[in-house]
Amino acid sequence: MSIKASVVEAIGNTPLIRLKRASELTRCEILGKAEFMNPGQSVKDRAALFIIRDALARGTLKPGGTIVEGTAGNTGIGLALVGNAMGFRTVIVIPETQSQEKKDTLRLLGAELVEVPAVPYANPNNYVKVSGRLAEEIAASDPRGAIWANQFDNVANRQAHIETTGPEIWEQTGGKIDGFVCAVGTGGTLAGVAMALKERNPEITIGLADPMGAALYHYYTHGSLKAEGSSITEGIGQGRITGNLEGAPIDVAFQIPDEEAIPLIFELLEHEGLCLGGSSGVNVAGAIRLARHLGPGHTIVTVLADYGTRYQSKLFNPAFLREKGLPVPAWLERGTQVKA
Ligand code: PMP
Repeated sequence: MSIKASVVEAIGNTPLIRLKRASELTRCEILGKAEFMNPGQSVKDRAALFIIRDALARGTLKPGGTIVEGTAGNTGIGLALVGNAMGFRTVIVIPETQSQEKKDTLRLLGAELVEVPAVPYANPNNYVKVSGRLAEEIAASDPRGAIWANQFDNVANRQAHIETTGPEIWEQTGGKIDGFVCAVGTGGTLAGVAMALKERNPEITIGLADPMGAALYHYYTHGSLKAEGSSITEGIGQGRITGNLEGAPIDVAFQIPDEEAIPLIFELLEHEGLCLGGSSGVNVAGAIRLARHLGPGHTIVTVLADYGTRYQSKLFNPAFLREKGLPVPAWLERGTQVKA
């Protein structure tokens, strides 16, 4: 019998897929955890489920209550689908710069969307801060109550990866794993998987793959937060040590420019049938860097964080790529031509 009681039970237990070209290039085994195969098509379904379960266990979330969150999109999608399945309303605060596809998906799932300008965390109108205030307002006015998911500092997020993603990777590789690397949005994935793996084998090397525009590479290499440049990737690129990142056992950090990450996304799609979002390009580039750092013969795991259709209007749009000064692959250019 393999019947799931609800879609909630279909979260997690994703396959680990060998990345052929990256493995051949480095003479390592580079494996991608296929998180785009979760019901909400991203790694964030896991965090959404654990945050909701934790709030239920604490008694802060009650039947018919509201879940409020500030999110680049994927956590909101996870919260909305788990919320629908379990009977909660979701209110999502999103920076207006995020892809139209993610906003459309959130609306489709019935989340109430609040779009705000993309301003830094220090600004009181930052999406994370707006979501915290909104949760307080709803909690004060609605007798069924409201919670703020607070994915950045709520460690129920990283607990999802300590209890599920990390152990899954350990079991799927039979413990034959030398390195794990990924980018940071909240840090839940990197910190949680790192903690689970180090507990089983402290020799496993944990790497951070940081996009341009994020401040963590400088923190883990020089001890202070400092950002430079920018990236078209979404959902990653952190400027502070979040609650989820605190105590994360990170051994090595890589800074990944879009020029290195984005072509990998096109190659994986064209030659390996993997249709991925931009953050997965940073992750795979990080895995290649970690493979070079460790040398041939090692097994390295990274995360294929979400599905590419979520970015068709940006990452897979020749006009957008040209505007950002990024190369456009020939097949993408051909695909957009209209035959007379
Ligand atoms: N990739 C994408 C596409 C995401 O949406 C996120 C989460 N914002 C991440 C990576 C990073 O995951 P985490 O929040 O666990 O650091």
